[in-house]
Amino acid sequence: MTHIITSLCLRDGGCVEVCPVECIVPGMPQDQYPWYYIDPATCIDCGACIPECPFEAIFTEDEVPDAYDAKADQKQAKPAGTPGFTEHFEGSNHHGHAVVMDTVKTLTAGETLNLRDDIQPNYDYFEKGPGYWDGWQQHAK
Ligand code: SF4
Repeated sequence: MTHIITSLCLRDGGCVEVCPVECIVPGMPQDQYPWYYIDPATCIDCGACIPECPFEAIFTEDEVPDAYDAKADQKQAKPAGTPGFTEHFEGSNHHGHAVVMDTVKTLTAGETLNLRDDIQPNYDYFEKGPGYWDGWQQHAK
């Protein structure tokens, strides 16, 4: 098993600070990989990242909900080109640095999401995508 960061992630990055095996990477390029991603081959399932996420975006793989009830004004991010994900978002991360995203959607209260769709992209990021790109550790700090 592993832990999964879902599309509720808005790149806070606090999870990176607490991961004892440094297996969480900010997605890059951001428009294609808008979340942070967990390397499933390295994650030891300690659970430390879950309470660090201000967006409650992280779950154990078997607990990723298939019918998640969104809260009012909660946001979700998907890769560029995903229909409906065209909003501009400006926030700040765990370190107070600016986070700017352009592939976001604001959810309505009670909207139901199947977050299990977000499991495979986490695997793909390390198996087919950029994985541990050069400089990710500096970028995450
Ligand atoms: Fe890292 Fe532990 Fe989270 Fe796995 S569960 S990504 S090892 S903090």
